[in-house]
Amino acid sequence: MSNRPLLVFDFDGVIVDGMEEYWWSACLACLRLSAADGMRHQVPNRVPDGFRQLRPWIHHGWEMVLMASLLQERDGLLQRIGVDAFVAAYSEHCRQALEARDWSPQQLQEALEHVRHSAMAEDRSTWLNRHRPFAGVPQRLRSLASEGVDWAVLTTKGRAFTAELLDAFDLQPALLFGHEAGSKPDVLQRLIAEQSLCGFVEDRLATLETVLATPGLRSLPCFLAEWGYLRPSDRQALPQGVQLLALTQFAAPLADWT
Ligand SMILES: [Mg+2]
Repeated sequence: MSNRPLLVFDFDGVIVDGMEEYWWSACLACLRLSAADGMRHQVPNRVPDGFRQLRPWIHHGWEMVLMASLLQERDGLLQRIGVDAFVAAYSEHCRQALEARDWSPQQLQEALEHVRHSAMAEDRSTWLNRHRPFAGVPQRLRSLASEGVDWAVLTTKGRAFTAELLDAFDLQPALLFGHEAGSKPDVLQRLIAEQSLCGFVEDRLATLETVLATPGLRSLPCFLAEWGYLRPSDRQALPQGVQLLALTQFAAPLADWT
């Protein structure tokens, strides 16, 4: 492990915009899960507005599969109550929707990862092309080395898919942790015990709040990536310890971020 300070980055919504792929793979995972019931759905090409609106609440990959199912359901819960009411009790509504379908998070996650593995094996370039790095972000990550800083990726995505994408963008983080490594606060706790961390950049405010409430991580500089999948209210009244990071600021030297 290097002695250089480490800056840790979330992946989806911070380094890469994979909205097209999230929708496509979540729909295919739904198809896979529904095939047993004899149900057939088309995968709509266009990402529905509802999916984009729901994305900021999504924490784990399996939730995308559930959202794709809810969005394609006729006269279902989401259609009846709308996105705003759904996200007002997001966890409870997810629980109800899983129960109604007799699905488990693990089953959904496996279906999603199966779709991604198949897509990578069958047509890697088409799968990769459903993702876009955010403008200027890869260049900025590469330039961190000149400031004496190493960078790492910490994501709830599978490690193998993240590694493929990083490779396609010609990005080589010092460390890479997928969901297999444990929760983000747990991984950060292990890292901070071993080396100096100069910050965590993430686009999910709830994750930053959990990190700051974790013993040993209270003083970790936390940055909310403004260019990512933010909820409409996230920019207002940020909790103490969380700083909003705009792309222009991200492009500036690290010493000027705070
Ligand atoms: Mg994210």
